Amino acid sequence: MIDPFGRTITYLRVSVTNRCDFRCTYCMAEHMTFLPKKDLLTLEELERLCSAFVDKGVRKLRLTGGEPLVRKNIMQLIQRLSRHLQSGALDELTLTTNGSQLARFADELADCGIRRINVSLDTLNPEKFRAITRWGELARVLEGLDAARRAGIRVKINTVALKDFNEAEIPDLVRWAHGQGMDLTLIETMPLGEIEFDRTDQYLSLSQVREDLSSRFTLTDASYRTGGPARYVAVAETGGRLGFITPMSHNFCESCNRVRLTCTGMLYMCLGQNDEADLRKALRQSNGELDLGRAIDEAIARKPKGHDFIIDRDHNRPALARHMSLTGG
Ligand code: SAM
Ligand code: SF4
Repeated sequence: MIDPFGRTITYLRVSVTNRCDFRCTYCMAEHMTFLPKKDLLTLEELERLCSAFVDKGVRKLRLTGGEPLVRKNIMQLIQRLSRHLQSGALDELTLTTNGSQLARFADELADCGIRRINVSLDTLNPEKFRAITRWGELARVLEGLDAARRAGIRVKINTVALKDFNEAEIPDLVRWAHGQGMDLTLIETMPLGEIEFDRTDQYLSLSQVREDLSSRFTLTDASYRTGGPARYVAVAETGGRLGFITPMSHNFCESCNRVRLTCTGMLYMCLGQNDEADLRKALRQSNGELDLGRAIDEAIARKPKGHDFIIDRDHNRPALARHMSLTGG
């Protein structure tokens, strides 16, 4: 799959549910209305869609959400998709999770060939953790991290950098993650979906964070890539790797290799644009696989050049009404 700008699409991110057992303040409103069950693709349909993308050249598949591990019977989907790892069609099957259910699923995930996962964690202070996730319990997530490591799964921590919330804690988070052999990636907040807060109050530029970190650590640009948008530095004092995802301050669209599928079967060719392709319709038509292949090709041919997010006092409305939990972060 090659898009109009010559980028080869090899990475599919799939939001398997928009539900979640947390309500992180930058991601969701406290009282979210979730999609009715009937609008969701079944697990079988998700598998057919993912497999169609693998047939078309996708090498990396990431399940996300919402919280992927709260989708009922999610392990059935993961087990079925793992056959593409065994056949060599897929290089990597992975997930992004808030870690709340990891203690329960880590062994099964490892058995399915999952070698690396991303776990989101914004603070190591239990009260602050509860405040930012509204419903989350830090101790459970930490248990989940231990279980993942015991099962031999490498963990990368994702931390959203939030002004006046975890700004001062970032050096400690770096030391903690690296001390346990985990990479850490910092993310800028993006203007997706209605939330209760003013996003300009949450937004923290990672250029600023990097400058602050440089006064404490020796940071050296690293060529390491995971196929995602993060740019890494090596931290001499900890021996670990630190990533920066900077959609706002430095846009990385020119090397974009991915598309995103929602749990309702909509394909978004760009996280930051509204254009979508209805793959559920194609999937459910009688000529299923043929129509599906054609619908995927048409969608890739429409992949836009990039997003145009801005957060400042004049632009503090969401750039898109869609929440991250629907498109999949
Ligand atoms: N529930 C899982 C989790 O939290 O890891 C997976 C889905 S979550 C939407 C994926 C990632 O998106 C998380 O790392 C989260 O911090 C990030 N995220 C959510 N809303 C965001 C926003 N408005 N801007 C930047 N990152 C966001
Ligand atoms: Fe749930 Fe992840 Fe969004 Fe937090 S960031 S509310 S854990 S989907």
